[in-house]
Amino acid sequence: MKPQGITLLGATGSIGVNTLDVIARHPDRYRVVALTCHRQTDRLFEQCLAFAPAIAVVADAAAADALGARLAEAGSRTEVWYGPEALEAVARLPEVDMVMAAIVGAAGLRPTLAAAQAGKRVLLANKEALVVSGRLFIDAVRSGGAELLPVDSEHNAIFQSLPRDYAGDLDASGVRKLVLTASGGPFRSLSLDAMRNVSADDACHHPNWVMGRKISVDSATLMNKGLEVIEAHWLFNAPAERIDVVVHPQSVIHSMVQYRDGSVVAQLGSPDMRTPIAYAMSWPERIDSGVASLDFMALSGLSFEAPDLQRFPCLKLAFDALATGGDAPAVLNAANEVAVAAFLEGRIGFLDIARVVADTLDSVSLSASSDLDSLLLRDAEARAFARSCIVT
Ligand code: NAD
Ligand code: MG
Repeated sequence: MKPQGITLLGATGSIGVNTLDVIARHPDRYRVVALTCHRQTDRLFEQCLAFAPAIAVVADAAAADALGARLAEAGSRTEVWYGPEALEAVARLPEVDMVMAAIVGAAGLRPTLAAAQAGKRVLLANKEALVVSGRLFIDAVRSGGAELLPVDSEHNAIFQSLPRDYAGDLDASGVRKLVLTASGGPFRSLSLDAMRNVSADDACHHPNWVMGRKISVDSATLMNKGLEVIEAHWLFNAPAERIDVVVHPQSVIHSMVQYRDGSVVAQLGSPDMRTPIAYAMSWPERIDSGVASLDFMALSGLSFEAPDLQRFPCLKLAFDALATGGDAPAVLNAANEVAVAAFLEGRIGFLDIARVVADTLDSVSLSASSDLDSLLLRDAEARAFARSCIVT
């Protein structure tokens, strides 16, 4: 069998590095065609030497020149491209069979959409892209003849727990509810008062998962779970009232499907993203991911609790944005990206994140339109308003 060609959007991030780890275990099955990054060109340089992609993509011309010179000197034949159009171009290349969408934030929307339109297998980690574009993205997958495979561990778990022939109709498949598990993040049992003074490093110290800084903060506010509710809505065609969130601090159950007959089907495993990455890449087969099976005797127990919307208002804001529909999820996401960046830079406090998002949703005029240009315009308006809420 000819190896499948892969483009990795966001190769230098946490998901990108884990994906390359899986690929390295299967040189007969997968071949890296393109690797992209934003600023971490040193890491991209090393990855280009190790995986010999045809193309590497960086942010701008100066970075491309510098990386190109280093690669040529090292004897590499990788070409270096740059800019947003290059990200879309490597997602569409004819020799590419699958695209790992692992850029963080709405910056990944256009190239991920390009992969869908070009009919690739889209391995979706970049949940913000789907949250922003919703219906538009799902329609692009359908009209482009693409395959959409969730990499987010919860959605991958639900995908594994649904019937193989699930076609977007919960009732037809006897499904009562989808249950997303949440670890609760590092501040699960902290009082609101104590959350006032937490630092960016505290927020990025996740109890179970090692991830990029933006998603780590989202996990601490539970905005990550809110984005995941919206993601589940689009991926599985599930209305909000049939998506439950359960806090499960051990992160052993990655999510579950409750069926009409009382059965609950779940996917369990160690908290290691290589499992969902490998499953999305190899589906419907299974390949070695480097992750050991769970050792049940070593588990101290599994516990469950309801999320506290008082202390974690971001989760409620996301449910509300989904109920509002139209471009409200795009506004929620844009305001959150701005607020999280400001928190990571020490310019606002942890509790200000929810305040900035709520104020932006209250102030930016929302609409039902869902074409790409109006979504991107609303995204820009929301970012501008959110920045104006952040006094430095
Ligand atoms: P990360 O910050 O570690 O990596 C982000 C990658 O995107 C890097 O390669 C970076 O160079 C690139 N990038 C950043 N800004 C860019 C821009 N403006 N243009 C082009 N490229 C840009 O993030 P991550 O933790 O790997 O997460 C990536 C995505 O996967 C996010 O959407 C996140 O929500 C999702 N996700 C991550 C995990 C995880 O375990 N890390 C789990 C589930 C979902
Ligand atoms: Mg997740």
